[in-house]
Amino acid sequence: MPRHAYGMEFDQWQSWVRDAGLPMWRGGQIFSALQRRRPGAWSELTELPRSIRGRLEAAFSLAWPATARRHVSRDGTVRYLLDFSGGTARTPEKNQAEAVYLPDEVFDDAGRALRQRATFCISSQIGCAVNCQFCLTALLGLERSLDAGEIVAQVQFLLAAHEIRPGDDRVNLVFMGMGEPFLNYDAVLRAVRILCHPRGAGLAPRRITISTSGIVDKIRRYGDEPVRPRLAVSLNAPNDELRAKLMPLHRGQGGLAALMAAAREYPLAARERLTFEYVLLARVNDEIAHARELAALLAGLRAKVNLIAWNAGPELGWHTPSSARVTAFQSELRRHGVAAYIRRPRGQDIFAACGQLKRHEDAVQT
Ligand code: SF4
Repeated sequence: MPRHAYGMEFDQWQSWVRDAGLPMWRGGQIFSALQRRRPGAWSELTELPRSIRGRLEAAFSLAWPATARRHVSRDGTVRYLLDFSGGTARTPEKNQAEAVYLPDEVFDDAGRALRQRATFCISSQIGCAVNCQFCLTALLGLERSLDAGEIVAQVQFLLAAHEIRPGDDRVNLVFMGMGEPFLNYDAVLRAVRILCHPRGAGLAPRRITISTSGIVDKIRRYGDEPVRPRLAVSLNAPNDELRAKLMPLHRGQGGLAALMAAAREYPLAARERLTFEYVLLARVNDEIAHARELAALLAGLRAKVNLIAWNAGPELGWHTPSSARVTAFQSELRRHGVAAYIRRPRGQDIFAACGQLKRHEDAVQT
């Protein structure tokens, strides 16, 4: 099977051209042409000799995700169900993952819109094996991991769909869609290196966040990566008993002792903070006592907490906390010196909000 061309790093293209007896600069030329112009066929790269195009055609796929569904929210959020089968799948559910485009305006102190930003929320796997009890993706189980080329193509697809040029610094990228990125570690990190390469899409590592449910050995390994986006840990509970109930992988990872040790030893860059995501479930993990316990757990860490009121839907049996409870939880954290922010839910009407990605066939298609 041909390799996915979008998943080839800059250095790998250089090795390929060298092995093919071509000058090294051809490697950079191919990498840039792919990542900046997104050709639909090798024949479009007319700057390359015909003989090279023929060899590329035989060795590499330019597979591009197809839009299986597209839903547009009242708030401008767009949710895509992307098909990675190349049109060959008899079982689409094994080849479809979701990606979300979230437009955001930045305002000055007087409320004037300064500029438009965008966040892409992308998937690293099709489905997920982690089985967090508050997440609809968990109901799918894991079908398969996306390869680096599919992850890069997913981002390139969103850049093209929303007419954002490579190198544009208005894009934030979050690995918070389907899947646990650290259970697809090598492909995710390779995709990150490709997307951040200055001769390619040129995304900034500081504008990328990888969110993990707490795969401890990978958190430690990630700290040593040369190209390292920001790290978020999906925490959701301040003690072992509750976290094990909400996230069944918890105990197998050594519990909070192992997770917090990895967090404390994580090599933060200057001005970098660890992010902890905390999904609030009414009367489960949103009591003031939980906020106090959480503040004690995070004491001394350079960290912030993003609070997300759970909203995935009735299938899972949890309840959304009132905004008063969410605010009280935040205030208690702040009272104890923890930087805590309430995340505004986006795209709820099209099931694009956090934890809602489940291939909703019945959502409104526009
Ligand atoms: S919250 Fe993330 S890690 Fe947990 S089941 Fe959902 S997709 Fe997987």
